[in-house]
Amino acid sequence: MKRSKFKMRITIWFSLALLVMCLFMGAVIISLYRMKMENSVLDNLQVVIDECAKMIESDTELQQLLRESGMDTADNSGFLQDDVFLMIYREDKSRACGLFLYEETDALPFEDRQLQKAEADHVSFWLYDRYIYSEEGGLWLRGLQYSAAEMGDILYTLRDVFLVFPFVLIFALLGGYWLAGRFLRPVTQISRTAEEIRRNGDLTKRIEIKDSGDEISALAGTFNGMFQKLAENFEAERKFSSNASHELRTPVAVILAQCEYALGNADNTEELKEALEVIRRQGYRMSRLIETLLTLTRIEQNTGYYPLEKANVSGLAEDACRDMRLSAEQGIVIETDIEDGVYAEINPQLFCLMLDNLLQNACRYGRENGKVKVILREKGDEIELKVADDGIGIGERDLPHIWERFYRGGNSRGKKGMGLGLSLVQQIVRYQKGRITVSSTAGEGTEFCIIFEKVREEK
Ligand code: ADP
Repeated sequence: MKRSKFKMRITIWFSLALLVMCLFMGAVIISLYRMKMENSVLDNLQVVIDECAKMIESDTELQQLLRESGMDTADNSGFLQDDVFLMIYREDKSRACGLFLYEETDALPFEDRQLQKAEADHVSFWLYDRYIYSEEGGLWLRGLQYSAAEMGDILYTLRDVFLVFPFVLIFALLGGYWLAGRFLRPVTQISRTAEEIRRNGDLTKRIEIKDSGDEISALAGTFNGMFQKLAENFEAERKFSSNASHELRTPVAVILAQCEYALGNADNTEELKEALEVIRRQGYRMSRLIETLLTLTRIEQNTGYYPLEKANVSGLAEDACRDMRLSAEQGIVIETDIEDGVYAEINPQLFCLMLDNLLQNACRYGRENGKVKVILREKGDEIELKVADDGIGIGERDLPHIWERFYRGGNSRGKKGMGLGLSLVQQIVRYQKGRITVSSTAGEGTEFCIIFEKVREEK
């Protein structure tokens, strides 16, 4: 119902606008036409009177005749020329001859070559005078022509124009309703698709509109993009929860099996200890997983749990490398090239977690007696942190996916891990307003490069 109300509103506004425009245009056309007609009336009146004056001036006999003929003797029909009524007065403004339509014209002032507008019996007209000099006594030649407004065709034009208006209005209403429907069709389509998605929760649905490059198709495009993003997010969430529950199910199953075994079959302390050992290992695994998931959630929700502060990253990086040296396996050597006194806006706890994950990966996927290099330096307004190893590298097919949660590359077979390390690293880097890139060649090694914004150091 709401939709058709809107359509109706557009139609009414459109029709009203059209009507106002028509009225305005009609008024402009009529006044222009009237002005033009009035001018042609004046031109005609002057031309006719001037010509008559010229003729009378050059003919003294005619002057004499006119002066003496008087009203009764003159042949009146000759005094109407091209819609101009001719009236001839003597020097003393008494009527000589001509077509005198109104008494009022006699009393109006006489002035040579002057136009004047006058009215009698509710009819308006123009008068134009010429004085013809003669020694025997001058003559006044006065012409009368009705003003353009009095001419029938203007009234007819006006009437015609106003008669057309109802039709224009009906046409505008029908046309406007049809047009509004056409314009609103894509909007209706958008809301219908959105409604369908709401009802069925089917995010694969898309608004099907031709890409005409206008605002509506841009809006539809934005909606489709939004549905796409929502679908991707829901899919990622779904995958994430299913992976997380899968990851938790395995240790829980192992713990339960070990408990059953210990309670039912373990005969001596040795066996009980063994079972407890397995349970502890799985417990730690679960705890690590839960801890990582919790950290990811806290970062994502930005609850203020990890406040950012200006910290000395040089010191933090040195500490992390020193700790890693103690636990590094396979004879891997950790080399550092860390510039002193580098400060950045970070959360120290998260920064250590991030570096720890990268170092662990570098050692885990490193080769025996290999080398891991950590470089920290300032580069212009930025800080660059690199963690590079000369290990097994990442395959080309795995490279685009390593940031995904629970993704483990082909090279991880037989190695510890849950596939959450790099997604956590990426999340931490973003949280600290940095960016991270990776370059790797299978069999040669991997390098992670993180860029942070520098903060002026305090002396
Ligand atoms: P995992 O727990 O499997 O290490 P991560 O999220 O830390 O999970 O890493 C995802 C995948 O990226 C790993 O399974 C591995 O295939 C690859 N990877 C990460 N770091 C390295 C590295 N330094 N060298 C080679 N491969 C790596």
